[in-house]
Amino acid sequence: MVDPSEAARILAGLRKIRRLICPECGTEFEGKGRRRFCCRACARRYNSREYYRRRRERLLAEGGKQSRAGYWQEYYRRNREKILARRRARRQQAKAPSESGE
Ligand SMILES: [Zn+2]
Repeated sequence: MVDPSEAARILAGLRKIRRLICPECGTEFEGKGRRRFCCRACARRYNSREYYRRRRERLLAEGGKQSRAGYWQEYYRRNREKILARRRARRQQAKAPSESGE
């Protein structure tokens, strides 16, 4: 025999358990409370992906016009002298042995 308060407690316990589908891997599981994922690995994977997605969106919103090519163009413009000097030095190094040999 089950007394009323015991029955209420069982019902309350049952109500908390929901059939959920993991948004990460699609596995059906019994979710309690605020749980959303079937396992920790899924939660971690989902959250880190969301984090990077939001970060990328924010970066795009901030500097959407500056593409990767634009970044290197800007880099080249700023360090043009340094880059050219390095290139010249490398060319001379490559040439030096044959020049001394003649
Ligand atoms: Zn999962």
